[in-house]
Amino acid sequence: MLKIENLHATVADKPILKGLSLAINAGEIHAIMGPNGAGKSTLSYVLGGRPGYEVTEGSVTFSPLPLAGGVGGGSVSAAPNLDMPSPDPSRKREGDLDLLALDPHERAAAGLFLGFQYPVEIPGVSNVQFLRESLNAQRKARGQEPLSGGDFLKLAREKAGLLKMDMDMLKRPVNVGFSGGEKKRNEMVQMGILDPRLAILDETDSGLDIDALRTVGDGINAIMRKPDKAVLLITHYQRLLDYVQPDFVHVLAGGRIVKSGGPELAHELEEHGYAEVVA
Ligand code: ADP
Ligand code: MG
Ligand code: MG
Repeated sequence: MLKIENLHATVADKPILKGLSLAINAGEIHAIMGPNGAGKSTLSYVLGGRPGYEVTEGSVTFSPLPLAGGVGGGSVSAAPNLDMPSPDPSRKREGDLDLLALDPHERAAAGLFLGFQYPVEIPGVSNVQFLRESLNAQRKARGQEPLSGGDFLKLAREKAGLLKMDMDMLKRPVNVGFSGGEKKRNEMVQMGILDPRLAILDETDSGLDIDALRTVGDGINAIMRKPDKAVLLITHYQRLLDYVQPDFVHVLAGGRIVKSGGPELAHELEEHGYAEVVA
């Protein structure tokens, strides 16, 4: 699904990612943990195509499988027709996308979803309006018809219910006055509506109390734990991983993956700290 090879990236001319490699298969949940300032958010921004994050070396191949049905995902033929050159044509398989060559909106249309550490507030735009426009922009890029108001509301209600979010919050301006936990739940509602193939979630657990943590964890499982989807969870703490059990855990330090293992690695980190485990 995602193959990151020898990724180097700079922010404001400062090298942050320094040879990061990682492969994620469909059906897998990976967690990246790491100390503050290791480059975790930088990785998610680079994968999302945020301006100001410059890739200086390496490649990222995104190979989304076509999704089977579902209102959000559209028809079975929802695979994007983005015929992009691959860095090494000899290894190109059908459906492989050179992620770094795509604009952010093309990445989203191809099935990439990014959840941010700090979700933005958008005063003056209602949540429903924002979610509907996001979905319909994505459908348009895939050559699908926009969803009608009625169908959209039905979908939004279903996903809001999944995240135990009050419908009133869907009518309010995006994230304005939302608590940290409400912003995160709102983001998961958006993920449910967009129905991505690969979700990269940056510190989705920050600012969540125990109940919200469980709700968000259950939401991630319900939306993303599928054979044709994958998740990259970026987190400081082990606790989210009690609810969303990763298949693999990686430690990011100094701009590279320095250690990989199973779920037990997260417990080891929690107990002993990064310095000791990585040493
Ligand atoms: P993490 O998410 O792992 O805590 P970040 O990816 O946010 O780390 O940051 C990695 C490093 O990049 C930090 O040293 C941070 O100060 C630096 N950095 C991030 N954004 C910028 C920026 N816009 N300008 C300069 N340095 C930045
Ligand atoms: Mg941080
Ligand atoms: Mg961060």
